[in-house]
Amino acid sequence: MKDNIVAISTAMTKGAISIIRMSGKDVISIANKIFKGKNLEEVESHTIHYGYIVDQEEIIDEVLVTIMKAPKTYTMEDVVEINCHGGIITTKRILETILNYDIRLAEAGEFTKRAFLNGRIDLTQAEAVMDLIESKSNQARKQAVNQLTGKLSSQISNLREKIKDLLASIEVNIDYPEYYDIEIVTTKKIEEVTQKLITELKNILNNSKNGKIIKEGIKTVIVGRPNVGKSSILNSLLDEDKAIVTDIEGTTRDIVEGSIQIEGIPLNIIDTAGIRQTEDIIEKIGVEKSLSLIDEADLILLVFNSNENLTEEDKKLLTKIDKNKTIIILNKNDLNQKLKLIDFKDYHVVSSNTIDNNGIDSLKEKIKELFNLEQIESNNTTYLSNARQISLVNKALKSLEEVIIGIKEKLPIDMLEIDLKQAFTLLGEVIGEEYSDEILDHLFANFCVGK
Ligand code: GDP
Repeated sequence: MKDNIVAISTAMTKGAISIIRMSGKDVISIANKIFKGKNLEEVESHTIHYGYIVDQEEIIDEVLVTIMKAPKTYTMEDVVEINCHGGIITTKRILETILNYDIRLAEAGEFTKRAFLNGRIDLTQAEAVMDLIESKSNQARKQAVNQLTGKLSSQISNLREKIKDLLASIEVNIDYPEYYDIEIVTTKKIEEVTQKLITELKNILNNSKNGKIIKEGIKTVIVGRPNVGKSSILNSLLDEDKAIVTDIEGTTRDIVEGSIQIEGIPLNIIDTAGIRQTEDIIEKIGVEKSLSLIDEADLILLVFNSNENLTEEDKKLLTKIDKNKTIIILNKNDLNQKLKLIDFKDYHVVSSNTIDNNGIDSLKEKIKELFNLEQIESNNTTYLSNARQISLVNKALKSLEEVIIGIKEKLPIDMLEIDLKQAFTLLGEVIGEEYSDEILDHLFANFCVGK
């Protein structure tokens, strides 16, 4: 296939070892031209060789070279990897020496792109490679590995097979239009199978919320009037003094962030400036930002001082929030209680104080409950893991729903065929059975060079 490519695959910092990777039909012969030790063109596949990289007469480094011949390689092409001494200068010098030959620098993600184009992995697996590199928690890593092994691909392929069967029976129908009975039977079958597919796609989409949480964590904001104890709660959760706790109203002006893990899922917490009407312009920016953060958040921790009655602002805040994603914290329960748990029985609510960290554990438990974190932890399902996959599955779902509408409206069977074909194509795009160069370029542009 195509031309020869090369890239430095390890990070460009000082380190014990760097790896320079090459792929393409001539890379073994190119490596041989700059290698002193033995004839690399005569060695077996998947073997490692000790020697020196030389540029003409000059020895550049002492290295180990791995020779992997097509097709059992990452790209399914001939691949050579040079393990040299780490260090930016040495690594770059070797790269420059290689570039004197008929080989060019690889683009971002080009090795993985070749693995895809040569049929070794599909698109969801290519995406999993990137997710794996970028995973921020152990859960995210597990999910990426699951996807890398092809679990999501086979789930999507199964759905496509079912649609393909339907399309085949429609073809039979169109080929023998004189048998009216067949059309009735076929339509009934299409309706039954399509309904099942719709349910399956809806399940996959529902589950994909978990996928997002695993990958990106739970975006959490702490809101409430000044001085109710937001920063103290953040500190108790974080167990460190990242947010500065003070007595002066409205001091937490800048938004303070921190992250903890619950059941292996990152909880990314933002402490907002106190929400209240204010004339102070700096603080106002903070307040406006808080309100927009409420909309974007997966979880809102709304803090009240249980030692005071609700103000008009508190009541207003209560109307602004989405109950299903909010936990109300009645803080300062060490003081005289004016607000009681029972007053908030329609909400998720906990009582706490940050003096002796009372209630912080119940808060964590509540978060676990709200997001089913224990279930995610033990669950081995593969979730759709990015917006590209989710939007395609959504579109496929819409096409299938069109099929059902068409049946209700008694449309001719070849009209149903159009929507079924559409769903088939869209699901094909998820795994990359169908793709455009534009999509590929966009997707792989986000990869690291050398991967
Ligand atoms: P924020 O403005 O909402 O971030 O509130 P802070 O966390 O800065 O706390 C305001 C004041 O309330 C500080 O003096 C804290 O020490 C105090 N405070 C915070 N939590 C509690 C609590 O549970 N009980 C009591 N008695 N005081 C608290």
